[in-house]
Amino acid sequence: MEAGGTVKHIAESGRTRVSANTKSSRIPNTGSGFRPAARVAGIGVSEILAIGVRARALMAAGQDIVLMGAGEPDFATPDAVKLAAHRAIDNDQTSYTPLIGEPNLIEAIRSKFSRDNAISYTPSEITAAAGAKQVIFNALLASLDSGDEVIVPAPYWSSYVDMVSVAGGVPVVVPCAERDGFRLTPQALDAALTSRTRWLLLNSPSNPTGTIYSTEDFRGIGEVLARHPQVWVISDEIYEHLTYDQRPHVSLISAMPLLKERTLVVNGVSKSHAMTGWRLGYGAGPEELISAMTVIQSQSTSAPSSISQAAAVEALIEVDPCLAERREVYEHRRNLVIDYLNEIEGLSCASPAGAFYAFVGCGGVLGKRTAYGESIKSDMDFCRYALEAHGVAVIPGAAFGMSPYFRLSFAASESQLRVGMERLQNAIAELSF
Ligand code: PLP
Repeated sequence: MEAGGTVKHIAESGRTRVSANTKSSRIPNTGSGFRPAARVAGIGVSEILAIGVRARALMAAGQDIVLMGAGEPDFATPDAVKLAAHRAIDNDQTSYTPLIGEPNLIEAIRSKFSRDNAISYTPSEITAAAGAKQVIFNALLASLDSGDEVIVPAPYWSSYVDMVSVAGGVPVVVPCAERDGFRLTPQALDAALTSRTRWLLLNSPSNPTGTIYSTEDFRGIGEVLARHPQVWVISDEIYEHLTYDQRPHVSLISAMPLLKERTLVVNGVSKSHAMTGWRLGYGAGPEELISAMTVIQSQSTSAPSSISQAAAVEALIEVDPCLAERREVYEHRRNLVIDYLNEIEGLSCASPAGAFYAFVGCGGVLGKRTAYGESIKSDMDFCRYALEAHGVAVIPGAAFGMSPYFRLSFAASESQLRVGMERLQNAIAELSF
């Protein structure tokens, strides 16, 4: 299996370039003689991790660092959900569960889909897993043969590309320009499709841009896919509850019902209910796909934790009022960081419509020099400089397949965000040509 080896990049001209994965390996060479499998050796150190690790090392050494790189809510899991987990422990719900999840969780997921998205699924079309990430991983492992292609619009959540590679597929990276709101256009999709394409990976609201696809956007994509019946879709809707300016979340299937027979909708409680550590995600799609995914899951984690399943039932069965309250807090924070960003010369950012990230253009600072005479040649250079010299952690766009940008997370307290934005302001004010 040529796993972890190649990535296919589509240029804006429509031409393709196949490259080896050039990121350095995550496996340290300590001379033990251990030989990692090719599927692991090709997977690189994530820049998200690298900045986060360095930020925490600086904090451990006593430095005052503002973390604006986090991809998780800074709220607590809602009380009702925590109580449900306590009850499950007290009632000894501690045994193995069915592979796809307990029947009451499957029912809660089905009722969530009909309530929030007006989509109806049978129980055999649903699976739970240890996070949305495992749902996607199961689907890729269950479907990809060596060399099968998966279209990944960039900027993307970095794990998509690596997961496709580990599963033996070829990620086909399609750049989505800022002038198109970082959305995949039907034309770009059309140009990227080949006879080897198995999946299109869509993510709305998006990590890292906050972009939301409208019904019209999905219809344009659906029209192209109608001519390619062999292509299936993974629609990652994990940020569904985080949309701003009263914009509704549009689920791919409600916009394009015809795609239901070849779409895996992915969701979870990590972002909506501040439950990243509970590891509970779910997927809905055609029964054959779910069955194949269950085979994969049966030989890895079996099922998600029984306690997390009980907690997720509580999270999904009714809409907790705290979700709307938190959404307002995020919107307020988003406005705050965008106001700051608009004042900083050299940076640019449109107001994100969803999720809790701003994807900030930093082309205006490239070529400048720091007070120590170092040249800023890339978004990675800028992020290192912001962290080391000004104590603020943001993630380079390179980690999401698009430069020169950085991702800033506003899942942090207002006071932290103010300090962080002022540090960014100072960092840029200190640069000179
Ligand atoms: N999908 C996207 C777009 C994400 O950003 C993340 C986490 O950052 C996930 C999926 C993973 O979610 P989970 O915690 O449910 O595995």
